[in-house]
Amino acid sequence: MIRGGCLCGSIRYEVRGPVGRVNNCHCIMCRKAHGAAFVTYGRVKAEDFVLLSGADDLGSYQSSEPVTRTFCKKCGSSLQFIVAEWLEIFGLALGTLDDDPCVRPSKHIFVDFKAPWFDIIYDLPNARSRSLPNPMADDFCGARSVFASPCCNASGANLNNATAQTSPIGSGYATAWFQ
Ligand SMILES: [Zn+2]
Ligand SMILES: [Zn+2]
Repeated sequence: MIRGGCLCGSIRYEVRGPVGRVNNCHCIMCRKAHGAAFVTYGRVKAEDFVLLSGADDLGSYQSSEPVTRTFCKKCGSSLQFIVAEWLEIFGLALGTLDDDPCVRPSKHIFVDFKAPWFDIIYDLPNARSRSLPNPMADDFCGARSVFASPCCNASGANLNNATAQTSPIGSGYATAWFQ
């Protein structure tokens, strides 16, 4: 079980299960949503996510046709990335965690859209990606199969195995997330 919450502390949550694939997304929507150079999202099963407090402060914004992002209405902390077709899984903004999810980012994605003022300074695969109208939409299609083990004894090993499963480059955003 790992815990997290927003900046002001109104929203508190627990993740009572493993955090799956973690990617650093450099797309402009994520950058603007977080006011940051990139966003680190980890996949969490909705059934594992327990909101302990702050439900009334949980705001949402539909950033594209299939995608809704949630945030704290008091302090602005970004929290979730939810794809309408894949409600059983969402992306959790790992910056809101208090605990170590025991998985590490496996990839940079949408690096073609990264901030010009930011250099990627540590070594992860840099996904090349197309400009897609709904760049996050396909991401979760295979995510259910790439959940890592719950904690540090796995330390990314499962992610590495998942990384080795190659998908055809060029199939769009899903490829960016699953390679
Ligand atoms: Zn807050
Ligand atoms: Zn993004």
